[in-house]
Amino acid sequence: MREIDVLVVGAGPGGMSAAQYASRAGYSTLVLDPMGPGGQLLFIDEIENYPGLGKISGYFLSESMENQCKEFGVEIEYDEVKKIEKKDNRFLVTSSYSEIKAKAVIIATGASHRHIGAKGEEEYSGKGVSYCATCDGPFFRGQKVVVVGGGDTALTDAMYLSKLAKDVVIIHRRDSFRAQKALQEKIKTIPNVSTVMGKNVVEIKGNGTKVESVLLDDGSEIETNGVFVFIGTVPNSKVVEGLVDVENGFIITDDKMNTSLPGVFACGDVRNTSFRQVVTATGDGAKAAHSADEYIQENNL
Ligand code: NAP
Repeated sequence: MREIDVLVVGAGPGGMSAAQYASRAGYSTLVLDPMGPGGQLLFIDEIENYPGLGKISGYFLSESMENQCKEFGVEIEYDEVKKIEKKDNRFLVTSSYSEIKAKAVIIATGASHRHIGAKGEEEYSGKGVSYCATCDGPFFRGQKVVVVGGGDTALTDAMYLSKLAKDVVIIHRRDSFRAQKALQEKIKTIPNVSTVMGKNVVEIKGNGTKVESVLLDDGSEIETNGVFVFIGTVPNSKVVEGLVDVENGFIITDDKMNTSLPGVFACGDVRNTSFRQVVTATGDGAKAAHSADEYIQENNL
């Protein structure tokens, strides 16, 4: 059995930030991710709001974080954590390829955006189909976009997009929004936002390189340059099922990234937070590593 100080589960920006901080603080640190380093960063063509770096690709940022981790001695392996148990102040972790004993565990497994499942959605992902208004909204300045969804995210992000795009059309599957009443009232006052209620997007059409329209289930078609899908997220928290407290699958933490089980910390999109960005995940990662350091010291592990 391998023995290490800090095990990080997930190698997205939150996980790599946590690992870098833990290793730099002197702890032997291992990161496991079945997909390797990068997480959702690898799906972002261009990032222009990560502080201090200007316009970069998600791949570039991922590679930079990976290199920085390695400079500080972090080991990153392609491996999937299957089970985590706490026994005698240590965590016994079973992965696809090994068994590990760790003093602290940081969960950074992220969340996946729920997809509509419409024809053309995958084909045009990154070519007009987006799951992040802050990341991609500025690429649609002066253009027309549709927003799919009826919750707080759909309405909040439609408001954000209305400041950039010429026209925003919100398409929701029911006749009433799920979002807070205050948001519903506010959205009605924005002149370039309109709504299409009680309809589903069944197909996203384009010319092979960019989106041109969406087809609805009543057969009507709406021309658009972009499709923003905000129909909820699915947390990747299966590995801690029954181990720590969750809300709708998202791991509950305090502001120091402590979960309900001492010694297990969570950071980034898998925790129940309202704003999910690369920069918030990396900030969370730093805090999780700092709290893991405190936990190890306070318990003389
Ligand atoms: P959400 O509340 O789960 O809403 C998802 C929306 O997508 C719902 O309107 C749902 O329709 C729709 N939907 C789900 N699956 C669909 C599908 N397959 N096809 C079409 N539509 C589908 O998710 P969210 O808006 O991302 O919010 C997540 C959490 O973050 C919530 O707790 C929210 O309050 C919070 N949040 C808060 C703020 C804020 O306070 N300003 C901002 C953003 C998020 P139905 O309504 O028909 O179910």
